Amino acid sequence: MQEMRDTLAAKAAELEAEIAELESHKGESGGISFGKRIGEGTNIAVERMSQVTTHDSLTRMLAEVRRAQAKIDEGTYGRCDTCHEAIPEGRLEARPWATHCLAHS
Ligand SMILES: [Zn+2]
Repeated sequence: MQEMRDTLAAKAAELEAEIAELESHKGESGGISFGKRIGEGTNIAVERMSQVTTHDSLTRMLAEVRRAQAKIDEGTYGRCDTCHEAIPEGRLEARPWATHCLAHS
């Protein structure tokens, strides 16, 4: 289990760094100003939208990693939070922070 704790801690740190990186860029461009050239503002808007989406999915994944860490402490790691059935090994290998089986993910 120690190895799993290390894996989850490393993943959480990685996600936190990515989120901090995204947040440090927030505000940088201030309000979207529509530049002289048409399309400039649109590009920034599109880029921002994808940053918001990335930020959302990173935040969600971080919450999942944190939950998985709590599950190790609870002794329920590897079991689905909804049905309490064992999460298939292959799924845990691909996503060590999985807190739900496929049916309940
Ligand atoms: Zn389930």
